[in-house]
Amino acid sequence: MNGMEDQLVDWFKSQARLDPTRFPIGIGDDMAQINLPSGGSVLVTTDMLLSGVHFDLSRHSLDQVGYKAMACSLSDCAAMASRPVAAVVAVGLPAGSDPDQLKLLHRGILKAAQTYDFPLVGGDMTVWRQEDLLAICVAMISIPGPYGVIRRSGAVVGDMICVTGRLGGSIHGRHMEFVPRVNEAIKLAGMVRIHAMMDLSDGLASDLPRLCKESKVGAVVNATALPISDQARLSADPIASALCDGEDFELLFTISQTDAAALARSWDDPLPITCIGQITAGSDIKIILPSGTIRDLDLRGYDHFERK
Ligand SMILES: [Mg+2]
Repeated sequence: MNGMEDQLVDWFKSQARLDPTRFPIGIGDDMAQINLPSGGSVLVTTDMLLSGVHFDLSRHSLDQVGYKAMACSLSDCAAMASRPVAAVVAVGLPAGSDPDQLKLLHRGILKAAQTYDFPLVGGDMTVWRQEDLLAICVAMISIPGPYGVIRRSGAVVGDMICVTGRLGGSIHGRHMEFVPRVNEAIKLAGMVRIHAMMDLSDGLASDLPRLCKESKVGAVVNATALPISDQARLSADPIASALCDGEDFELLFTISQTDAAALARSWDDPLPITCIGQITAGSDIKIILPSGTIRDLDLRGYDHFERK
């Protein structure tokens, strides 16, 4: 799906022909930016979550589902270092749903909204003809944070590539209850000049090439530097898990080497930040394996990284 998704995004971009004076950021970043006729701008994103794909109705409660749907969009707000201001939510409920189930879903939605201090301002609901289907779609508006909006396209050759938190294995539970890095993104933007940023929704091996493509640069990642999560360490191939598992919802960003050194000295937050590689000239995305072998970092190669 990821390869096809990227091709479709390119196609949509080619069809859009957006006026950059009205839409400074269009299709292909974590959020689109819309300049308002009255001055200032807003950013907008939407995320659709489906039962059987993003959550499992037999294992996850409806308040978990509501929270996750909101947190996915909040993670996009974080990716732009923006502040959420309002959300609307549309749901396709399973056949036979009762009002209490909708209220449970709503509880999860509100938990996310209240944590980040913005309201749910509307929505829509409809009902499937089947009992085992649920779709939830969040549309969220944000405004630029105090340090401006950060795009995917600003990475510079020589930049250090950094990530927050730990990578891989979120399927073992964390993907339903993750903390979107809204506050951390704004804090970071106030401490250093972030050149490019996005959130990790599909795994580093899918998302880093997207950031590099937008910035027209390459990258080299050092596998031994990856902050591998405890869950990913339990998998058969922890490095592949850290690179390819989706739904980490951590931040991926690039900063100058000087800023990386400054951040290493001054970052005082409990959320770890790790430099995992460097931006290079050209368009190749490479990984240095623990053995010292250098490979292309692509999805085709991931499952035999350490099996030569
Ligand atoms: Mg995103």
